[in-house]
Amino acid sequence: MPSEANRLRTELGRPLFWARKRLRPRGLVLMYHSVGTVEVDPWDLYVTRKRFAEQMEVLARSAVPLALPEFARLQREGRLPRRAVAVTLDDGYVNNLHEAAPILEQTGVDATVFVTTCQLESGREFWWDELAQLILGPDVLPDRIIVGPEAEQPTHMIVGEAKKYSGTDRAIDAQFRDTLGNKKSARMGLFLRTWAVYQAMTHTERQRDLDRLFDDLGVERRARITHRSMTTDEVVTASDSVTVGAHTLTHPLLHRMSLAEADHEMRESKRCLELLLEREVSTFSYPFGARDQTVVNAAIDIGFDSACAGYPETVCSSTDPFQLPRVQVGDWTGDQFERQIDRWFRFL
Ligand SMILES: [Zn+2]
Repeated sequence: MPSEANRLRTELGRPLFWARKRLRPRGLVLMYHSVGTVEVDPWDLYVTRKRFAEQMEVLARSAVPLALPEFARLQREGRLPRRAVAVTLDDGYVNNLHEAAPILEQTGVDATVFVTTCQLESGREFWWDELAQLILGPDVLPDRIIVGPEAEQPTHMIVGEAKKYSGTDRAIDAQFRDTLGNKKSARMGLFLRTWAVYQAMTHTERQRDLDRLFDDLGVERRARITHRSMTTDEVVTASDSVTVGAHTLTHPLLHRMSLAEADHEMRESKRCLELLLEREVSTFSYPFGARDQTVVNAAIDIGFDSACAGYPETVCSSTDPFQLPRVQVGDWTGDQFERQIDRWFRFL
């Protein structure tokens, strides 16, 4: 009977599938952003210094940590060692230098930091962190906030219940993680809606609009050591302890741009870092992990050897080296992290 045959095939197929998958040498690319302690972290991007140290100790003891270019080379050659792991940190936060680099050096873990180069001269925070200063800073907001993208096409954000931001609201938002979908205040809701409007703007529009909003709301712009990006000198210093990869000029959604614009963003970030560091920059990470085949082809054409995306999978010899999967690491203890690494190797 066909249905019986199907049932048997499913039962037999499953263990064989998993067995075959487990027998193949596989690696894992870990995605981090920031190391340190902050009040709000809606996207779960921060791992505390203590836990980052515990996690790196786990890797040093129980995995084969490799810088991404080396990891990608071995993957291409089909020689990835068992439990090969590449640690990557996206965006180029200065906490990567102050908090992560000393731990990486102590534990001997080679990591790769993907740097967004337009930030290097500004010493400013990324737009999403400046937006958090604007929306999640003030105790009281006006009834309505106007955000770009152009003066003639403003989006009026009705503030409503988010007008007042109490200590209780702040305590709720300190626990909020977008991925968990847990409870958040009306103010956090307003922040996320404003974030979506800003993400769709061009870099120039966004920077101009942020400047205007700082004026309109009377908020003093800060460049917090926990949040700001590295300067030129700081990237040079960091490059003594980590491998540097490119992450575009302005952190755009590459697949929403023309090919010429996307090519410029990727090519120029590589060139800028190579001039600065006087060495080849061979690896790249797509901002927000967002890409389409045209963008992937551009990464190949520009001369990168590998590029990181953001979907969770393990890496094996058949994985596309220009769309390497990555798993995001949370603020976990060493034990939790070790169990999660085992789960990823077993089930992804
Ligand atoms: Zn990024």
